[in-house]
Amino acid sequence: MPSEGNTKVARVWPVIRAYAKAARRYPWLIGIVFLSGLVIELLAIIAPLYLKRLIDILASEDPATATMSILLGIIAMFALVHFGKWAGNRIQVFSINRVEMKIMADLSNDAFRYLLGHSYDFFVSNFAGALTRRVGRYSRAFEQILDTLVYNFLSTTVFAFGAVFVLFQRSMLLGSILLVWTIVFVALQVLLARWKQPLRTARVEEDTRMMGALSDAVSNQSTVTLFAARKHEYSIFGRTVERWRAATMRSWNADAWIAGFQAFFELVIEVGLLVAAVVLWQRGLITVGDFVLIQIYVIGLIDRVWGIGSSMRRIYEAFADAYEMVEVFQKPHGIADAPGAKPLSVKAGTIDMKDVGFTFTGGHPVLSGFTLDVNAGEKVALVGPSGAGKSTVTKLLLRLYDVTEGSIGIDGQDIAKVTQDSLREAIAFVPQEPILFHRSLMDNIRYGRLEATDEEVYEAAKKARCHDFISGFPLGYDTHVGERGVKLSGGERQRVAIARAILKNAPILILDEATSSLDSESESLIQEALKALMEGKTVLVIAHRLSTIMHMDRIVVMEEGRIAAGGTHDELLDHKGGLYHKLWSIQAGSFVADTEA
Ligand code: ADP
Repeated sequence: MPSEGNTKVARVWPVIRAYAKAARRYPWLIGIVFLSGLVIELLAIIAPLYLKRLIDILASEDPATATMSILLGIIAMFALVHFGKWAGNRIQVFSINRVEMKIMADLSNDAFRYLLGHSYDFFVSNFAGALTRRVGRYSRAFEQILDTLVYNFLSTTVFAFGAVFVLFQRSMLLGSILLVWTIVFVALQVLLARWKQPLRTARVEEDTRMMGALSDAVSNQSTVTLFAARKHEYSIFGRTVERWRAATMRSWNADAWIAGFQAFFELVIEVGLLVAAVVLWQRGLITVGDFVLIQIYVIGLIDRVWGIGSSMRRIYEAFADAYEMVEVFQKPHGIADAPGAKPLSVKAGTIDMKDVGFTFTGGHPVLSGFTLDVNAGEKVALVGPSGAGKSTVTKLLLRLYDVTEGSIGIDGQDIAKVTQDSLREAIAFVPQEPILFHRSLMDNIRYGRLEATDEEVYEAAKKARCHDFISGFPLGYDTHVGERGVKLSGGERQRVAIARAILKNAPILILDEATSSLDSESESLIQEALKALMEGKTVLVIAHRLSTIMHMDRIVVMEEGRIAAGGTHDELLDHKGGLYHKLWSIQAGSFVADTEA
């Protein structure tokens, strides 16, 4: 097992590589950002030198004899250097704004595209909320890292080297003091930041816990009210708040101590350099101007080094954030088009599944030796106990997973060898519990065929029996349906999904029948909508309620990943003691008992 240090490094490099790749698209802007940073700091070192010269003249010369033109010349140079610094700052800020936004936009797009390319299985195994957070953090971490590199690390390093270099020219002693102090101060900052880290982590954890407790209570608000448990919730929340308060307090106090240490160190260098400077001045080794120079450098340096410890922490956190997304990038897409894959061409719409075997990663075999031929235009129902593998069959047909054994063909073409987009364009899928985009109903239905006209959308909605309820909304087709479509009833959502599938008009249709019981009116509307949808298509229905599939061309009974029986409803019912008969008896209950009597 790698040590903690190694894993940290292992996480930093992939992030640097990913960011460097994105940054390489803007070499000029990146160059300007760093170059202007360098120039600004060099000018910050140079400007006080003019001040020093000015003060030296003022301190040593008689005002009556001093040459005004020389003094004004020095001031002019001082102003010029400062103006250069000002201009450099503007250039730096505008170029860093520009390049950061460009790169962050690229990173968001890259992350989004790669993420959406991941397989169904990937999304089943990862929380949507966590994934979206990763995309956001990935681009924000770039800003954090570049800002810290430019505004903290680059500026501190250049200024520190510059100040130490200049002071060495003036006096070995002054230069050495500043050098040693800078090194000790940076080291101290790093140590203090490390010491504080666990306290910070504890504060963040308590903060997350408090937010979790809050959202848990808010999302269960109705339960809290109905169980008259507000007082209970007050006390639970109160306890988490108390822990958060204590943890935050410890963290803040640590900050106060760190600031105290630093201020003390600042005092030490100020006094130390003053003493050294006075001694050197008395020996005639430095001037009054040097005195001012030292002060300016020390203040400038303290200003830059002050937050270096927290900058290091921030940059490390930014790397950790970014790594979460890089991890997603490092994972190859689970389902990919075969090299040279051609689009699927569907003329008739036959399906043939040959000896298909399938096992979920790390799971037990779900399908084995599954063979099913569906003729063009045939309507086949898959039935069987829950867990028999019905949904898995449809997922394999849509190539959300690749088969482990055997093959699946549509019109004689292996679906693993055609492009995924063309395969899914040829199949319309109506899921059990359709989820809608938080967009208008018009947009949701048009998703079936993005280039469809408004009239075509209305037409499909009418066929799917949703035109009436949509027209009843004040905003009609412009109504937004709420996150995941929560503002519609189950039956309405189902019909919107059917309208979408009607609009898609794909030759093959997969239907995962809704299990949730609907009122009989919704039920009959859905049946009408489905009838319109199935017309002229090859259809595979996963049926949960046998009453709805009596009129299918063929019923395939599945059990433990195999086909147990097949035939029409009547044929299957004739086989008393068969699985279908048993399922029918359970569902139809007294109805079957009556007919048999
Ligand atoms: P059905 O649709 O007939 O109820 P499924 O095809 O959904 O059955 O499931 C068949 C089997 O596969 C079940 O045992 C189920 O637990 C398992 N299964 C389904 N999805 C996954 C998954 N993502 N990972 C592992 N096992 C799964």
